[in-house]
Amino acid sequence: MQKVPSETLPIDRKERLTIPYLDLPLRDPKERICDFDDIHIPLTPEEAQREAARCIHCPDPAPCMEACPVHNDIPSAMWLIEQGRFLEAAALYRETSSMPEICSRVCPHEVLCQGGCVRSAYDGTVQTGMLERFVVDYERRVKGGLVEVPVGKPTGHSVAVVGAGPAGLSCAEQLRQRGHDVTIFEAKPAAGGLLVYGIPNFKLTKDVVFARVDDLKAAGVKFVLNTKIGKDKTIDDLFAEGFEAVFIGVGANVDAPMKVPGNDLKGVMPATEYLVRANVPPDIWPEEYRGKEPLEVEGKKVIVVGGGDTAADCLRTSVRLKAAKVTCVYRRSEAEMPGGEKDRKWAREEGAEYQFLTQPVEFIGDDQGRLKAVKCVRMKLGEPDESGRRRPIPIEGSEFVMEADFVILAIGYWPDETIGKTTPNLKTYKWGLIVTDPETGETSRPGVYAGGDAATGPDLVVTAVAAGRRAAAAIHEYLLRLEKAEGEQSENALQPAP
Ligand SMILES: Cc1cc2nc3c(=O)[nH]c(=O)nc-3n(C[C@H](O)[C@H](O)[C@H](O)COP(=O)(O)OP(=O)(O)OC[C@H]3O[C@@H](n4cnc5c(N)ncnc54)[C@H](O)[C@@H]3O)c2cc1C
Repeated sequence: MQKVPSETLPIDRKERLTIPYLDLPLRDPKERICDFDDIHIPLTPEEAQREAARCIHCPDPAPCMEACPVHNDIPSAMWLIEQGRFLEAAALYRETSSMPEICSRVCPHEVLCQGGCVRSAYDGTVQTGMLERFVVDYERRVKGGLVEVPVGKPTGHSVAVVGAGPAGLSCAEQLRQRGHDVTIFEAKPAAGGLLVYGIPNFKLTKDVVFARVDDLKAAGVKFVLNTKIGKDKTIDDLFAEGFEAVFIGVGANVDAPMKVPGNDLKGVMPATEYLVRANVPPDIWPEEYRGKEPLEVEGKKVIVVGGGDTAADCLRTSVRLKAAKVTCVYRRSEAEMPGGEKDRKWAREEGAEYQFLTQPVEFIGDDQGRLKAVKCVRMKLGEPDESGRRRPIPIEGSEFVMEADFVILAIGYWPDETIGKTTPNLKTYKWGLIVTDPETGETSRPGVYAGGDAATGPDLVVTAVAAGRRAAAAIHEYLLRLEKAEGEQSENALQPAP
């Protein structure tokens, strides 16, 4: 439900329609490829107020709100922003989202809230994503860096959260708000999940993620880092330690391999390793990358294999590492690419090239075992496959060779099976995703909940946030049921024997 009824508009709809579309201010591509900083230029308060006044306030439920996976009350936020009531707008976003400073930066708004905006069909969408970012950044500045997470009255219950990605962090935030004690166990040396160890800085600078983690620490959430559940201790160990419920938000972080000859050559690398070594400060690298030779991409030829947003991130990272030539090879045509158009546009603006309908069939090395070229084959499209996209078919005799010093494999992610294999009675699908009730995150094990990429497979930050929040509500109900059952048991124990 919208908080602000659409009848109480400060200016009428006709006047709103006269305010022109705001093309988001971006740094010049020539300038932005010189560093890993954010490419957006923040809005001024005047720009924000004018842009928010473009919202025509559709009847409740507004399509933008419906399209947002956490159902942010966008029309009411627009109403507050146009009047300069920025802190109230920020507070409104925080009611429905556990990390609006992050979602406002990385959500594919054009297919979520802004895709639902009725103005997008006429003169261009209201820039709701950038407005959300404006108010929550404003709030953090005004509050001196820390945004208070309201903490509920202590319940005496304690919950373990496994994985400090957006699903786990959101679940923890919501559990603290309900007064439960929360400890997050995280395998890596820093919290954030793919927000830190995946999404590059030019889309989401790490300080934004760490600031939100600091908010949670200040609210009493405990973090146990460098601890992999299923290896260092099990889910059963957590219950034995006294946790009464567990949320699993371990993501789906295993890079899909490419089974072609030469995939073990030096210079052939999974996307995750490449993005971490290029974008993450070495002091928080996972153990496996420590001590590796520096990533020397300057002046080199880089081929990125894949068609998703991760591929675009690797292309844009390569440009910033000063590669001489950066090419994406994708086996279908551009129309079938799963990645967003916006990221592709930015990659092109920054100098990346695309070779569609092209599939690597062999990585060719020199006598030192280093990659020197990639043998590819041209493809044509056949009938649609089970994904609904037209199946790529190799064209016989179309093989050709491209020179390359690095090949980055961005062809998808699989779940890690460790938790499934070490947790008795936890049902998983045969490829490792955890079976859950999508409404509650309940798993086949009482007291164990899961959500985010670990349950759905690779998806979005905002869907992981939504899943973490839904699971926190369900865990709260579960803990209340436990309390009630324990109360009844002790009451029964006090009854005289019949
Ligand atoms: C390169 C890249 C770019 C992306 N860009 C975008 C984007 O622009 N917009 C968008 O919306 N989405 C994007 N995504 C997708 C988004 O990052 C994920 O959907 C989201 O992070 C999933 O959140 P999660 O909490 O489920 O998992 P994750 O973010 O993967 O977090 C899981 C956490 O669990 C930890 N963990 C794993 N196993 C264990 C264990 N056994 N014990 C303890 N801890 C464990 C991991 O170390 C990790 O910290 C991108 C993904 C990638 C790879």
